[in-house]
Amino acid sequence: MMYDVVVVGGGPSGATAAEDLARSGHKVAMIDRDGRIKPCGGAVPPRLIDDFFIPDEQVVAKINTARMISPTQRAVDIPIENGFVGMVDREHFDEFLRKRAASAGAHRHTGTFLRIERDGDGTHVVYRDKISRNEMRMTTKLVIGADGARSDVGRAEVPGGDKIPYVIAYHEIIKAPAPTEHYDPMRCDVIYDGAISPDFYGWVFPHGHSASVGMGTGIDGVDLKKATADLRAASGLAECETIRKEGAPIPLKPLDKWDNGVDVVLAGDAAGVVAPSSGEGIYYAMVGGRVAATAASACLASGRAKDLQLARKLFMKEHKGVFKVLGAMQNAYYRSDERRERFVSLCHDVDVQKLTFEAYMNKKLVAARPLAHLKIGIKNVAHLMGIVSPTRT
Ligand SMILES: Cc1cc2nc3c(=O)[nH]c(=O)nc-3n(C[C@H](O)[C@H](O)[C@H](O)COP(=O)(O)OP(=O)(O)OC[C@H]3O[C@@H](n4cnc5c(N)ncnc54)[C@H](O)[C@@H]3O)c2cc1C
Repeated sequence: MMYDVVVVGGGPSGATAAEDLARSGHKVAMIDRDGRIKPCGGAVPPRLIDDFFIPDEQVVAKINTARMISPTQRAVDIPIENGFVGMVDREHFDEFLRKRAASAGAHRHTGTFLRIERDGDGTHVVYRDKISRNEMRMTTKLVIGADGARSDVGRAEVPGGDKIPYVIAYHEIIKAPAPTEHYDPMRCDVIYDGAISPDFYGWVFPHGHSASVGMGTGIDGVDLKKATADLRAASGLAECETIRKEGAPIPLKPLDKWDNGVDVVLAGDAAGVVAPSSGEGIYYAMVGGRVAATAASACLASGRAKDLQLARKLFMKEHKGVFKVLGAMQNAYYRSDERRERFVSLCHDVDVQKLTFEAYMNKKLVAARPLAHLKIGIKNVAHLMGIVSPTRT
Protein backbone atom coordinates (compact mmCIF):
# COMPACT_ATOMS: atom_id res chain seq x y z
CA MET A 1 0.00 0.00 0.00
CA MET A 2 1.19 3.51 -0.76
CA TYR A 3 0.53 5.90 2.12
CA ASP A 4 -0.09 9.61 1.61
CA VAL A 5 1.77 10.36 4.84
CA VAL A 6 3.77 8.32 7.36
CA VAL A 7 3.98 10.07 10.74
CA VAL A 8 7.04 9.10 12.80
CA GLY A 9 6.27 9.52 16.52
CA GLY A 10 2.97 9.13 18.36
CA GLY A 11 3.34 11.80 21.05
CA PRO A 12 0.98 14.81 21.18
CA SER A 13 2.39 16.17 17.93
CA GLY A 14 2.43 13.01 15.83
CA ALA A 15 -0.91 11.70 17.11
CA THR A 16 -2.57 15.05 16.30
CA ALA A 17 -1.07 15.11 12.79
CA ALA A 18 -2.13 11.50 12.15
CA GLU A 19 -5.66 12.09 13.42
CA ASP A 20 -6.14 15.28 11.38
CA LEU A 21 -4.87 13.61 8.20
CA ALA A 22 -7.02 10.51 8.69
CA ARG A 23 -10.10 12.65 9.35
CA SER A 24 -9.49 14.56 6.12
CA GLY A 25 -9.53 11.30 4.16
CA HIS A 26 -5.81 10.65 3.69
CA LYS A 27 -4.09 7.28 3.90
CA VAL A 28 -1.88 7.71 6.94
CA ALA A 29 0.33 5.50 9.08
CA MET A 30 1.69 6.42 12.52
CA ILE A 31 4.71 4.67 13.96
CA ASP A 32 5.67 4.94 17.62
CA ARG A 33 8.20 2.93 19.55
CA ASP A 34 5.97 2.64 22.62
CA GLY A 35 6.99 1.32 26.02
CA ARG A 36 8.27 4.54 27.62
CA ILE A 37 6.32 7.26 29.37
CA LYS A 38 7.40 10.72 28.19
CA PRO A 39 8.98 12.58 31.13
CA CYS A 40 6.77 15.65 31.48
CA GLY A 41 5.18 17.92 34.09
CA GLY A 42 1.90 17.57 32.19
CA ALA A 43 0.60 21.15 32.65
CA VAL A 44 -1.75 22.19 29.84
CA PRO A 45 -3.76 25.37 29.20
CA PRO A 46 -7.55 25.48 28.71
CA ARG A 47 -7.00 26.46 25.08
CA LEU A 48 -5.48 23.00 24.46
CA ILE A 49 -8.40 21.26 26.16
CA ASP A 50 -10.87 23.22 23.99
CA ASP A 51 -9.05 23.19 20.66
CA PHE A 52 -8.20 19.48 20.78
CA PHE A 53 -11.37 18.18 22.46
CA ILE A 54 -9.71 16.66 25.50
CA PRO A 55 -12.27 14.88 27.69
CA ASP A 56 -12.48 15.76 31.36
CA GLU A 57 -11.28 12.31 32.51
CA GLN A 58 -7.84 13.03 30.99
CA VAL A 59 -7.45 16.08 33.25
CA VAL A 60 -6.21 14.61 36.53
CA ALA A 61 -5.98 17.93 38.40
CA LYS A 62 -7.30 21.45 37.91
CA ILE A 63 -4.97 24.09 39.29
CA ASN A 64 -6.39 27.39 40.53
CA THR A 65 -3.24 29.13 41.87
CA ALA A 66 0.33 29.52 40.69
CA ARG A 67 2.86 30.28 43.43
CA MET A 68 6.07 32.02 42.33
CA ILE A 69 8.90 31.51 44.83
CA SER A 70 11.97 33.78 44.80
CA PRO A 71 15.60 33.02 45.81
CA THR A 72 14.89 34.57 49.23
CA GLN A 73 11.82 32.29 49.55
CA ARG A 74 9.29 35.09 49.04
CA ALA A 75 6.10 33.53 47.67
CA VAL A 76 3.70 35.37 45.39
CA ASP A 77 0.39 33.61 44.77
CA ILE A 78 -1.25 34.30 41.43
CA PRO A 79 -4.91 33.29 41.35
CA ILE A 80 -5.96 31.75 38.06
CA GLU A 81 -9.18 33.56 37.32
CA ASN A 82 -11.77 32.45 34.77
CA GLY A 83 -10.38 28.97 34.36
CA PHE A 84 -7.66 26.59 35.50
CA VAL A 85 -4.39 25.04 34.45
CA GLY A 86 -5.05 21.39 33.62
CA MET A 87 -2.75 18.49 34.48
CA VAL A 88 -2.50 15.40 32.28
CA ASP A 89 -0.64 12.14 32.94
CA ARG A 90 1.38 11.45 29.82
CA GLU A 91 1.14 7.69 30.28
CA HIS A 92 -2.62 7.87 29.62
CA PHE A 93 -2.85 11.12 27.64
CA ASP A 94 -0.50 10.02 24.82
CA GLU A 95 -2.18 6.63 24.51
CA PHE A 96 -5.59 8.33 24.41
CA LEU A 97 -4.38 10.52 21.51
CA ARG A 98 -2.87 7.53 19.65
CA LYS A 99 -6.08 5.51 20.03
CA ARG A 100 -8.13 8.47 18.84
CA ALA A 101 -5.91 8.81 15.74
CA ALA A 102 -6.33 5.06 15.05
CA SER A 103 -10.10 5.23 15.43
CA ALA A 104 -10.13 8.14 12.95
CA GLY A 105 -8.50 5.76 10.44
CA ALA A 106 -4.71 6.08 10.93
CA HIS A 107 -2.83 2.76 10.71
CA ARG A 108 -0.90 2.31 13.91
CA HIS A 109 2.50 0.58 13.86
CA THR A 110 4.64 -0.13 16.90
CA GLY A 111 8.38 -0.11 16.39
CA THR A 112 11.48 2.04 16.09
CA PHE A 113 12.08 4.32 13.12
CA LEU A 114 15.44 3.52 11.51
CA ARG A 115 15.79 5.56 8.31
CA ILE A 116 14.22 6.95 5.16
CA GLU A 117 15.19 5.38 1.82
CA ARG A 118 14.36 6.70 -1.63
CA ASP A 119 14.35 4.89 -4.99
CA GLY A 120 12.41 4.88 -8.26
CA ASP A 121 9.33 3.54 -6.43
CA GLY A 122 9.17 6.46 -4.02
CA THR A 123 10.02 7.26 -0.41
CA HIS A 124 10.20 4.43 2.12
CA VAL A 125 10.15 4.65 5.91
CA VAL A 126 12.12 1.78 7.42
CA TYR A 127 11.45 0.73 11.03
CA ARG A 128 12.10 -2.21 13.34
CA ASP A 129 8.84 -3.87 14.35
CA LYS A 130 8.52 -4.17 18.13
CA ILE A 131 7.11 -7.73 18.17
CA SER A 132 8.82 -9.49 15.25
CA ARG A 133 12.08 -7.45 15.51
CA ASN A 134 12.12 -7.50 11.67
CA GLU A 135 12.92 -4.45 9.55
CA MET A 136 9.72 -3.27 7.85
CA ARG A 137 9.26 -0.78 4.99
CA MET A 138 6.32 1.53 4.35
CA THR A 139 6.08 3.42 1.06
CA THR A 140 4.72 6.94 1.27
CA LYS A 141 4.44 10.27 -0.53
CA LEU A 142 5.34 12.36 2.54
CA VAL A 143 6.81 11.93 6.02
CA ILE A 144 6.02 13.97 9.16
CA GLY A 145 8.86 13.76 11.69
CA ALA A 146 7.23 14.11 15.12
CA ASP A 147 9.72 11.94 16.98
CA GLY A 148 10.47 14.43 19.74
CA ALA A 149 13.62 16.21 20.92
CA ARG A 150 16.81 14.89 19.28
CA SER A 151 14.61 13.69 16.42
CA ASP A 152 16.24 11.04 14.22
CA VAL A 153 14.13 12.22 11.28
CA GLY A 154 15.18 15.85 11.86
CA ARG A 155 18.85 15.00 12.24
CA ALA A 156 18.94 12.97 9.03
CA GLU A 157 16.66 15.08 6.82
CA VAL A 158 16.39 18.75 7.76
CA PRO A 159 19.21 21.32 7.80
CA GLY A 160 19.97 22.34 11.41
CA GLY A 161 17.93 19.38 12.77
CA ASP A 162 21.07 18.16 14.55
CA LYS A 163 21.91 21.52 16.14
CA ILE A 164 18.89 22.47 18.26
CA PRO A 165 19.98 23.81 21.69
CA TYR A 166 18.42 22.09 24.73
CA VAL A 167 17.90 22.35 28.44
CA ILE A 168 17.79 19.02 30.23
CA ALA A 169 14.76 18.68 32.47
CA TYR A 170 14.61 16.12 35.25
CA HIS A 171 11.71 15.27 37.54
CA GLU A 172 10.55 12.77 40.09
CA ILE A 173 6.97 11.52 40.19
CA ILE A 174 6.03 11.18 43.83
CA LYS A 175 3.00 9.94 45.68
CA ALA A 176 1.06 13.10 46.57
CA PRO A 177 0.90 13.83 50.30
CA ALA A 178 -2.26 14.97 52.08
CA PRO A 179 -2.56 18.77 51.86
CA THR A 180 -0.11 20.48 54.23
CA GLU A 181 1.10 24.03 54.83
CA HIS A 182 3.58 23.36 51.98
CA TYR A 183 1.50 21.27 49.57
CA ASP A 184 -1.81 22.24 48.02
CA PRO A 185 -3.23 19.82 45.39
CA MET A 186 -4.71 22.76 43.47
CA ARG A 187 -1.57 24.92 43.42
CA CYS A 188 1.48 24.84 41.10
CA ASP A 189 4.73 26.05 42.63
CA VAL A 190 7.32 27.58 40.33
CA ILE A 191 10.68 28.06 42.00
CA TYR A 192 13.02 30.75 40.68
CA ASP A 193 16.18 30.09 42.67
CA GLY A 194 19.72 29.74 41.31
CA ALA A 195 20.44 27.05 43.91
CA ILE A 196 17.74 24.87 42.29
CA SER A 197 18.32 25.93 38.68
CA PRO A 198 20.95 28.49 37.65
CA ASP A 199 19.27 29.22 34.30
CA PHE A 200 15.70 27.86 34.27
CA TYR A 201 13.35 27.01 37.16
CA GLY A 202 12.11 24.27 39.46
CA TRP A 203 8.50 23.14 39.91
CA VAL A 204 6.00 21.22 42.00
CA PHE A 205 2.99 20.24 39.85
CA PRO A 206 0.19 18.28 41.59
CA HIS A 207 -1.45 15.46 39.58
CA GLY A 208 -4.17 14.16 41.86
CA HIS A 209 -2.73 11.00 43.44
CA SER A 210 0.81 11.93 42.35
CA ALA A 211 2.91 15.04 41.76
CA SER A 212 5.80 16.01 39.48
CA VAL A 213 8.75 17.71 41.22
CA GLY A 214 11.65 18.76 39.03
CA MET A 215 13.90 21.35 37.43
CA GLY A 216 15.69 22.10 34.19
CA THR A 217 19.06 23.49 33.18
CA GLY A 218 21.15 23.98 30.07
CA ILE A 219 24.38 24.23 32.10
CA ASP A 220 26.73 21.23 32.03
CA GLY A 221 27.80 19.88 35.39
CA VAL A 222 24.66 20.83 37.35
CA ASP A 223 23.61 17.85 39.47
CA LEU A 224 19.94 17.53 38.52
CA LYS A 225 19.22 14.78 41.04
CA LYS A 226 20.70 16.76 43.91
CA ALA A 227 18.84 19.93 42.88
CA THR A 228 15.59 17.95 42.80
CA ALA A 229 16.34 16.38 46.20
CA ASP A 230 16.99 19.90 47.58
CA LEU A 231 13.75 21.11 46.04
CA ARG A 232 11.82 18.21 47.57
CA ALA A 233 13.35 18.96 50.97
CA ALA A 234 12.54 22.69 50.71
CA SER A 235 8.96 21.87 49.66
CA GLY A 236 8.38 19.39 52.51
CA LEU A 237 8.20 16.48 50.03
CA ALA A 238 11.41 14.61 50.89
CA GLU A 239 9.62 11.76 52.64
CA CYS A 240 6.99 11.11 49.95
CA GLU A 241 7.27 7.78 48.12
CA THR A 242 9.06 8.14 44.76
CA ILE A 243 7.19 6.48 41.88
CA ARG A 244 9.53 7.31 38.95
CA LYS A 245 12.69 9.32 38.27
CA GLU A 246 13.28 10.48 34.71
CA GLY A 247 14.69 13.24 32.55
CA ALA A 248 14.68 14.39 28.93
CA PRO A 249 15.80 17.32 26.80
CA ILE A 250 13.54 20.32 26.12
CA PRO A 251 14.39 22.21 22.89
CA LEU A 252 15.13 25.91 23.32
CA LYS A 253 14.65 27.33 19.85
CA PRO A 254 12.46 26.60 16.82
CA LEU A 255 14.41 25.53 13.75
CA ASP A 256 14.69 28.05 10.89
CA LYS A 257 13.47 25.41 8.47
CA TRP A 258 11.02 22.60 9.27
CA ASP A 259 11.00 20.77 5.93
CA ASN A 260 13.58 19.26 3.59
CA GLY A 261 12.10 20.86 0.45
CA VAL A 262 11.13 17.41 -0.89
CA ASP A 263 9.02 15.09 1.23
CA VAL A 264 9.66 15.58 4.98
CA VAL A 265 8.27 18.14 7.45
CA LEU A 266 8.94 18.25 11.21
CA ALA A 267 6.49 18.94 14.04
CA GLY A 268 6.60 19.58 17.79
CA ASP A 269 9.83 19.08 19.75
CA ALA A 270 11.45 17.71 16.56
CA ALA A 271 11.06 21.22 15.10
CA GLY A 272 12.38 22.77 18.34
CA VAL A 273 9.02 24.25 19.25
CA VAL A 274 8.79 24.80 23.01
CA ALA A 275 7.93 28.15 24.59
CA PRO A 276 10.94 29.97 26.06
CA SER A 277 10.75 30.84 29.79
CA SER A 278 8.12 28.20 30.60
CA GLY A 279 9.31 25.14 28.65
CA GLU A 280 5.68 24.59 27.71
CA GLY A 281 5.60 22.19 24.78
CA ILE A 282 2.46 20.03 24.73
CA TYR A 283 0.13 22.68 23.32
CA TYR A 284 2.71 23.83 20.79
CA ALA A 285 3.44 20.21 19.79
CA MET A 286 -0.25 19.64 19.07
CA VAL A 287 -0.50 22.88 17.09
CA GLY A 288 2.70 21.81 15.28
CA GLY A 289 1.11 18.46 14.41
CA ARG A 290 -1.98 20.25 13.13
CA VAL A 291 -0.08 22.72 10.91
CA ALA A 292 2.18 19.91 9.61
CA ALA A 293 -0.98 17.98 8.62
CA THR A 294 -2.35 21.10 6.89
CA ALA A 295 0.92 21.62 5.03
CA ALA A 296 1.04 17.94 4.01
CA SER A 297 -2.56 18.09 2.72
CA ALA A 298 -1.75 21.22 0.70
CA CYS A 299 1.36 19.59 -0.74
CA LEU A 300 -0.52 16.40 -1.67
CA ALA A 301 -3.25 18.44 -3.38
CA SER A 302 -0.91 20.75 -5.31
CA GLY A 303 2.04 18.44 -5.90
CA ARG A 304 4.30 21.35 -4.83
CA ALA A 305 6.94 20.43 -2.23
CA LYS A 306 7.15 24.15 -1.39
CA ASP A 307 3.77 23.87 0.32
CA LEU A 308 5.48 21.98 3.18
CA GLN A 309 6.83 25.38 4.28
CA LEU A 310 3.25 26.27 5.23
CA ALA A 311 3.70 24.39 8.53
CA ARG A 312 6.26 26.83 9.90
CA LYS A 313 4.54 29.86 8.35
CA LEU A 314 1.15 29.07 9.90
CA PHE A 315 2.72 28.34 13.29
CA MET A 316 4.84 31.50 13.38
CA LYS A 317 1.99 33.72 12.22
CA GLU A 318 0.06 32.76 15.33
CA HIS A 319 2.78 32.27 17.96
CA LYS A 320 5.88 34.27 17.02
CA GLY A 321 4.86 37.23 19.19
CA VAL A 322 4.40 35.15 22.36
CA PHE A 323 7.69 33.30 21.73
CA LYS A 324 9.51 36.64 21.32
CA VAL A 325 8.16 38.09 24.56
CA LEU A 326 8.87 34.88 26.50
CA GLY A 327 12.38 34.68 25.02
CA ALA A 328 13.11 38.27 26.05
CA MET A 329 11.78 37.54 29.54
CA GLN A 330 14.02 34.49 29.91
CA ASN A 331 17.08 36.46 28.72
CA ALA A 332 16.34 39.33 31.07
CA TYR A 333 15.29 37.57 34.25
CA TYR A 334 16.79 34.04 34.38
CA ARG A 335 20.41 35.14 34.60
CA SER A 336 21.04 35.82 38.31
CA ASP A 337 19.31 35.53 41.66
CA GLU A 338 19.04 39.30 41.83
CA ARG A 339 17.11 39.30 38.54
CA ARG A 340 14.97 36.34 39.67
CA GLU A 341 14.12 38.25 42.85
CA ARG A 342 13.04 41.20 40.69
CA PHE A 343 10.97 38.92 38.45
CA VAL A 344 9.01 37.57 41.41
CA SER A 345 8.51 41.17 42.58
CA LEU A 346 6.98 42.02 39.21
CA CYS A 347 4.57 39.10 39.64
CA HIS A 348 2.92 41.01 42.53
CA ASP A 349 1.48 43.41 39.99
CA VAL A 350 -2.14 42.51 39.22
CA ASP A 351 -1.77 43.70 35.63
CA VAL A 352 1.35 41.54 35.13
CA GLN A 353 -0.59 38.58 36.56
CA LYS A 354 -3.54 39.17 34.24
CA LEU A 355 -1.42 39.63 31.12
CA THR A 356 0.81 36.62 31.82
CA PHE A 357 -2.04 34.28 32.60
CA GLU A 358 -4.23 35.39 29.73
CA ALA A 359 -1.28 34.80 27.40
CA TYR A 360 -0.78 31.33 28.90
CA MET A 361 -4.44 30.33 29.00
CA ASN A 362 -5.50 31.67 25.61
CA LYS A 363 -2.17 31.86 23.74
CA LYS A 364 -2.65 35.47 22.74
CA LEU A 365 -0.90 38.68 23.71
CA VAL A 366 -3.99 40.52 24.84
CA ALA A 367 -4.45 44.21 24.22
CA ALA A 368 -4.91 45.28 27.84
CA ARG A 369 -5.57 48.79 29.03
CA PRO A 370 -2.88 51.03 27.51
CA LEU A 371 -2.06 52.47 30.94
CA ALA A 372 -1.50 48.96 32.33
CA HIS A 373 1.02 48.23 29.56
CA LEU A 374 2.76 51.53 30.23
CA LYS A 375 2.92 50.87 33.97
CA ILE A 376 4.32 47.35 33.43
CA GLY A 377 6.85 48.71 30.93
CA ILE A 378 8.08 51.31 33.42
CA LYS A 379 8.33 48.77 36.26
CA ASN A 380 10.15 46.37 33.96
CA VAL A 381 12.72 48.99 32.96
CA ALA A 382 13.12 50.14 36.58
CA HIS A 383 13.91 46.55 37.66
CA LEU A 384 16.21 45.77 34.73
CA MET A 385 18.17 49.01 35.32
CA GLY A 386 18.37 48.28 39.04
CA ILE A 387 16.73 51.62 39.90
CA VAL A 388 14.38 49.99 42.43
CA SER A 389 15.17 47.42 45.11
CA PRO A 390 14.80 43.75 43.97
CA THR A 391 12.05 43.17 46.53
CA ARG A 392 10.02 46.26 45.62
CA THR A 393 6.68 45.29 44.07
C1 LIG B 1 10.79 16.91 32.50
C2 LIG B 1 9.91 17.63 31.50
C3 LIG B 1 8.79 18.35 31.94
C4 LIG B 1 7.96 18.98 31.03
N1 LIG B 1 6.84 19.59 31.50
C5 LIG B 1 5.96 20.14 30.62
C6 LIG B 1 4.73 20.69 31.07
O1 LIG B 1 4.41 20.66 32.27
N2 LIG B 1 3.87 21.23 30.16
C7 LIG B 1 4.17 21.26 28.82
O2 LIG B 1 3.37 21.77 28.02
N3 LIG B 1 5.35 20.74 28.36
C8 LIG B 1 6.23 20.16 29.20
N4 LIG B 1 7.38 19.59 28.74
C9 LIG B 1 7.63 19.59 27.28
C10 LIG B 1 6.75 18.53 26.57
O3 LIG B 1 6.87 17.30 27.24
C11 LIG B 1 7.16 18.35 25.11
O4 LIG B 1 7.31 19.61 24.51
C12 LIG B 1 6.12 17.54 24.32
O5 LIG B 1 6.03 16.23 24.82
C13 LIG B 1 6.48 17.46 22.84
O6 LIG B 1 5.59 16.60 22.16
P1 LIG B 1 6.06 15.85 20.83
O7 LIG B 1 4.90 15.03 20.37
O8 LIG B 1 6.67 16.81 19.90
O9 LIG B 1 7.25 14.90 21.30
P2 LIG B 1 7.22 13.70 22.36
O10 LIG B 1 6.18 13.91 23.37
O11 LIG B 1 8.62 13.51 22.80
O12 LIG B 1 6.75 12.46 21.46
C14 LIG B 1 7.63 11.87 20.54
C15 LIG B 1 7.14 10.45 20.28
O13 LIG B 1 7.99 9.89 19.29
C16 LIG B 1 8.37 8.58 19.66
N5 LIG B 1 9.68 8.31 19.08
C17 LIG B 1 10.84 8.96 19.30
N6 LIG B 1 11.84 8.41 18.57
C18 LIG B 1 11.26 7.41 17.86
C19 LIG B 1 11.76 6.46 16.93
N7 LIG B 1 13.05 6.44 16.55
N8 LIG B 1 10.90 5.54 16.42
C20 LIG B 1 9.58 5.54 16.78
N9 LIG B 1 9.05 6.42 17.65
C21 LIG B 1 9.88 7.34 18.18
C22 LIG B 1 8.41 8.61 21.21
O14 LIG B 1 8.18 7.30 21.71
C23 LIG B 1 7.27 9.57 21.54
O15 LIG B 1 6.04 8.90 21.73
C24 LIG B 1 8.25 18.95 29.63
C25 LIG B 1 9.37 18.26 29.18
C26 LIG B 1 10.20 17.60 30.10
C27 LIG B 1 11.39 16.85 29.58
